[in-house]
Amino acid sequence: MQILSAYLLESTGLSKEEVFNSAASIEKALDEWLIEKGAPNPAASSGNFISKTRGSPAGQFQRRDATSEAGTFRELTLLEPTTSGQQFITTIAFLNLTDKVVVYATLAVQNIATIVAPVFTDPRCPFIVKKLLGLRPDWHIGNFPIPNSTPQILYGAEGGHQLKSMIQDSSRTLPIAVVSEVEQEPIWEDLENLLATDLAGLAGVVRIDEEASWVLTDELGKSNSCYLGAIRLYWPREKDLDESLSPKSSVWTASQVLSQDTDGKGMQRFRALLRRSVMGVASLTVEPPSIIREIQNQAARTRLLELEQRANANSEEIELARLFIQENEELKASLDEANREIARQASKAEAAEYALNRLKENSGADGSETEDLSERTTPTEGETRYYKKTRNTPSHDVLVRIKDCGHNSWQGANNADKAKKGVERLEGASAWNNFYHCSKCTGGGVWKVIW
Ligand SMILES: [Zn+2]
Repeated sequence: MQILSAYLLESTGLSKEEVFNSAASIEKALDEWLIEKGAPNPAASSGNFISKTRGSPAGQFQRRDATSEAGTFRELTLLEPTTSGQQFITTIAFLNLTDKVVVYATLAVQNIATIVAPVFTDPRCPFIVKKLLGLRPDWHIGNFPIPNSTPQILYGAEGGHQLKSMIQDSSRTLPIAVVSEVEQEPIWEDLENLLATDLAGLAGVVRIDEEASWVLTDELGKSNSCYLGAIRLYWPREKDLDESLSPKSSVWTASQVLSQDTDGKGMQRFRALLRRSVMGVASLTVEPPSIIREIQNQAARTRLLELEQRANANSEEIELARLFIQENEELKASLDEANREIARQASKAEAAEYALNRLKENSGADGSETEDLSERTTPTEGETRYYKKTRNTPSHDVLVRIKDCGHNSWQGANNADKAKKGVERLEGASAWNNFYHCSKCTGGGVWKVIW
C-alpha cells in the first residue's frame, strides 16, 4: 500500500460543548459522504456499496472506534477498487479529546491484482476532506492556521511585503504556491482558484501582480522571486536553520510550462504535477497523532480489566488475552516506528532529488534546459524565437517566449496582426524578417519569428 496524501486538522482550546458539537458535525458529514457514495446503511460498522465513481463497481466501508479516559477515537475507511486492478483507500480518523478535535485523513492506493507495473496515480483531494475543512474556520496544523480553499490575492507593494513575511514566517508549517501574472493575468485562466482547490488543506495559494513580484525580487533576490507568469512553491522554512538562508522553493517559469504545452492540456498536467508534489511530501511528513494508539491501547486494557473482574482473574484465557494485548501493543509500536523510518528514508530521497535539481538549475549543466526565456533581451539579427499565446486582449495577443514546439509545420502568417502586436509589445522591437504560425499546436497559437 502506498500513501498518496495525508491531512491533519486540529482545533484546540474548545469547550466541552464545542467538542461535542464539532464531533457531531463530523459524524454527520461522514454519514452524508457514505450516503452519497451509495451506502444504504451508513451507521453500520461495515458494509458494501455500489460506487457511483465511474469504473469503480463495488466499494466497502469499515468503521473502528475506541474510547479511553483521554477521549474518543473514531475511524471510517472506504475501499474503492478501480477497473485497472487498484484499490483506493480513504481513511478518516477523528479524535474528540478534552478540549480539542483532531482529524487525520489519508488517501492510499494498493494494487489488488498481481500486475508488474508501476502504480500510476493522479491523486485528488478527497471530497470528504474538503467538506471537513469547511466545517470549522479555525483548523490548525502545528499552531499554524490552515488556509481555506480559496486563493489569497496580494497586490501592490503592500501585498508583496505581506507575502514576503508569510514566506519567511518561521511558524509556517504548510507550503505556499504563488501564481504571478503576465499582463495582469496568470498564464492560464483561473489557475489560482483551481490550485487552491487542488491543494486544499495542504498549501496556501496566493496570486500576485507585477508590483508585488518586484517587491519579492527586491526582498528575496531574483532567484527566489516569482514573476512574469511563473508559479513558485515555497516550502515551509526548516527549523533551526540559519535565518539568512534563502527559502526552499521550486519554480516553474511561464516559458518552461508553456513550452511543454503543445496540445492545450498543459494546465491539467501542471495541476497534476503540483498535486503529486505537495501530496507526496504531505504523505511523508504528516504523521498520525500518537494519541490514537494511546486511546486504542488504553481501551484494550480497560476491556481486559473488566474481564478480570468478571471472571476468575487467573484463568488461562485471561492470561492469554493479557499476553496478546501486550504483544499487540509492542507490534503496533514497532510498526509505527517502521513506518516512520520508511517516511524518513523516502523524504531523504525526496530531499536529495530536490537538491540535485537546484544544483542543475544553478550550474546550468544543460544549457537548453535551463535557458531562462523569460529574461527580456532584445532579439539579434538572424535569431529565431518562438512564442505562445496565453490569451487575447482587444488590441493584441499576450505572448510568452517558449522553446521550439518541434512540429516543423510552419505556415506564413500574413494576417496575424494581433500576434505581431503581441511580439512587438513583448520584445520592444518589430524588425523581424519572417513570421510563421504552427499549424499543429493547439490550445493557443504558437509563432516562430526570424529576426
Ligand atoms: Zn507546434
